[in-house]
Amino acid sequence: MADVKALLDGYRRFYGRHFTRRDPLFDQLATRGQFPKTLIIACSDSRVDPAIILDADPGDIFVVRNVANLVPPFETNSGHHGTSAAIEFAVRNLNVKHIIVFGHSACAGIGALLHGAPHDGEDSFIGRWMHIADEAKEHTLHVCGTADHPDARRVCEEQAVLTSLKNLQTFPWLKARMEEGNLKLHGWHFELTTGTLCTWKEEEGAFTPIPAEL
Ligand SMILES: [Zn+2]
Repeated sequence: MADVKALLDGYRRFYGRHFTRRDPLFDQLATRGQFPKTLIIACSDSRVDPAIILDADPGDIFVVRNVANLVPPFETNSGHHGTSAAIEFAVRNLNVKHIIVFGHSACAGIGALLHGAPHDGEDSFIGRWMHIADEAKEHTLHVCGTADHPDARRVCEEQAVLTSLKNLQTFPWLKARMEEGNLKLHGWHFELTTGTLCTWKEEEGAFTPIPAEL
């Protein structure tokens, strides 16, 4: 696993590839700005960087990462709404055409939701943050009977993606763009052990694998 020295070596390789001889892509991004068409809401988990998994270039995707790739409901209280602010910028300023909620297997945030956060008390944030997905937990317990069921984690991860898709639609300016046909929502789930990417199919009511071969 990379320590800081290894990361700085990585930066030097990146610099060599893109800035020793000026890469036209970076010239364009620096001078013309960013025009990503897609916002991805992914987990902070170090194993599931969407830019790496989707082989995306700088400028391709606008990314928000937080614990368990959750979207809170639209709220106008005095809290610090970091995720909502990033969604607002992507939708209202960058005019993204797609929003992907990008869940994944073995998500520790979902584990905390099902089995309890590692810390509790006033100075801990994870448990309170994961309350956003309480509905997903309830669904999971209903379907699986117990949080210890072998399928519980997967069911809850998928359901939390759907909760986030639902919460996205509580943002009035976002919903308006969907109704105008200018914005589409997508729910994805990435399986770490097999590399399988599943997408939510509304008509089938299920997450189904996309073909992985080119
Ligand atoms: Zn996660």
